[in-house]
Amino acid sequence: MKKRYLVTAALPYANGPLHIGHLAGAYLPADIYVRYLRLMGKDVVFVCGSDEHGAAITVKARKENTTPRAIVDRYHEILKSTFEKIGINFDIYHRTSEPIHHETSQNFFRKLYDSQEFIEETTEQYYDESVGQFLADRYITGICPVCANPDAYGDQCEKCGSTLNPTDLKEPKSMLSGSVPVKRPTTHWFLRLDQHEAWLREWINTGKLNGIQLHDPAKWKNHVVGQCNSWLDQGLQPRAMTRDLDWGVDVPSEIPGSEGKKLYVWLDAPIGYISATRQWAIDQGKDWEPYWKDEDTALIHFIGKDNIVFHCLIFPAILKAHGGYVLPVNVPANQFLNLEGRKLSTSKNWAVWVHEYCEEFQGQEDVLRYNMIRKMPEQSDSEFTWKGFQETNNNELVNNLANFVNRVMVLTHKYYEGKVPEFNAAQTFKSGWTNEKPVIQADELKSMKEKLEEMSAKIESFNLREALMHVMEISSAGNALLQFNEPWKTIKTDPEQVKAVMNMALQVVATLSIALYPFLPFSSGRLRKMLLLPAIEDQGELDHLLKSLSANEPILAAGHEIGEASHLFSRIPDEVIDQQIAKLQATDVANKQDSGDKQINYQPMKETIQFDDFMKMDIRTGTILEAEKVEKSKKLLKLKVDLGFEQRTILSGIAEFFQPEEVIGKEVVVLANLAPRVMMGTESQGMILMAEDPDGKLCFVSPDKGWPGGMGVR
Ligand SMILES: [Zn+2]
Repeated sequence: MKKRYLVTAALPYANGPLHIGHLAGAYLPADIYVRYLRLMGKDVVFVCGSDEHGAAITVKARKENTTPRAIVDRYHEILKSTFEKIGINFDIYHRTSEPIHHETSQNFFRKLYDSQEFIEETTEQYYDESVGQFLADRYITGICPVCANPDAYGDQCEKCGSTLNPTDLKEPKSMLSGSVPVKRPTTHWFLRLDQHEAWLREWINTGKLNGIQLHDPAKWKNHVVGQCNSWLDQGLQPRAMTRDLDWGVDVPSEIPGSEGKKLYVWLDAPIGYISATRQWAIDQGKDWEPYWKDEDTALIHFIGKDNIVFHCLIFPAILKAHGGYVLPVNVPANQFLNLEGRKLSTSKNWAVWVHEYCEEFQGQEDVLRYNMIRKMPEQSDSEFTWKGFQETNNNELVNNLANFVNRVMVLTHKYYEGKVPEFNAAQTFKSGWTNEKPVIQADELKSMKEKLEEMSAKIESFNLREALMHVMEISSAGNALLQFNEPWKTIKTDPEQVKAVMNMALQVVATLSIALYPFLPFSSGRLRKMLLLPAIEDQGELDHLLKSLSANEPILAAGHEIGEASHLFSRIPDEVIDQQIAKLQATDVANKQDSGDKQINYQPMKETIQFDDFMKMDIRTGTILEAEKVEKSKKLLKLKVDLGFEQRTILSGIAEFFQPEEVIGKEVVVLANLAPRVMMGTESQGMILMAEDPDGKLCFVSPDKGWPGGMGVR
């Protein structure tokens, strides 16, 4: 293990709130890992912050008729407080609009410029003449060349995930004016990624750089290495590190041609990790440099899979080009979490928003954390459903964990006045891990220690879901310990054994109060309170616990007094879940209503009529027997319709949509008592009822197949 850790979580973009996909992708895994490192007594700094630059922010500001500053101020506050509420425990939550960040990024740019890492190149880029602006990244939309999604952005297609250039788009359109852009020459600085390709390939795949082993490639996730190699195999191209924008970090002014140019957001955003660390060091009176420059630092980036190329290829290239910085030892990117069968989408509001969850489920923050970990998309995409959320809460958190803790608390108060009982160390009982042979407490503590070690190994290899399952196995073993030994039956006949069993059960609860801390910190805190143990202070508590267990020392001393029992988790009823599902369905309806060009212009409702007005209409079922075109009419078909009791000739204005032969045999609904009317020389004796869409397209309103003619319709 390295001497110190610097853990980063992807900077969330300050143009929207946080949803559960973000949480499961980067923040929760990072938080669990950091809390674990602290429980092991490691020196760790955990940084994050709002990414406040880039075209998506200025586009949103323009849409809402406000300033980029107002947008980032609003969302920075929402993001920051959401992280706090859900227990993501950053050492600093910074922002890229801070002066220290601008200075840090400009220094990077200068250094790269001076060491000739850039090539200056003039290329043709899209320009909106009506607004007088180049259209970088999100300022332009068009058809994705890969999947034909009509709403792809200039930098990315959100449907297929392809990374794009604005010039790749088919039928490009300016986001600013909707007009078709023209191409104009503009000059930018391109990072020569092609020159970094060879060492990046070796470093990613072998962990070696200049013969020195920097990381263990076996510990990297397959899909991360796979994505990197697919980029490398296509050959890295020089990539523009500047943009023609008016919001962002200025290209340093002493560089010729810098006017009106800003740093590309993917150049400055990862440098945000460094400026955040600098600010943290200032606030804490510490030195930031060892965390970025000392070889004995493990740098770990937690991100979602859409950011792999930036963190595994581009940012390492920037760090190495600058020189003096460590490279990440791992980038444990997660895949995507889906919601109720569909991709999460901020723009379509198809999401569970974390700040809304925290409002609606106060005190149940850990239930969401638990669900997110259970569904964590560690190796492949996964799915969140509200029904699944309810089931895991009721079956696992309530039935397993909360019930066990409650039973131990209640029985300890009942039998021993709330004090941890003394017992004979040679006393045997049935093990909670296996009830086959009798054990003494030393055996049982050893089994628990082994489970904790398995949990540690899983966390260190970023298998957080399995790690949590090991903690839950400790709780299950606690339940089984009570179930197999039935202290409530033997308290009269064998009180000495009950003391040993209950002492052991209390040791399990105390162990859980530490082991749960990385995953469910709020519940860990509640357990500590119930046991009257001090709150976790990130001072190596798990390390101490493992050492005590190895030395066969119990965690709770005999005679230690515990507090009152309180419920850790309670059942979530169907109504609560139904409400959440209804909320999502409402989003869906709203989406259909505002889905751009497909917007439906519903006809206004007609005046209210009375029941009697309706009853005046005689509507009948019928079948079309014959159909022919009406000469000189584009619209009319002449139909013979069987109403059962008689046959009618009806002229129907459907000729533009149906050929005569198509409609023969069609079962229809007829307004039968409509006054006859002569059209094109023929009397029409009724009207066929049709549904009409806003474009005037028609479709039949039909009874079920084989329904007899002449039946009344009401
Ligand atoms: Zn696409």
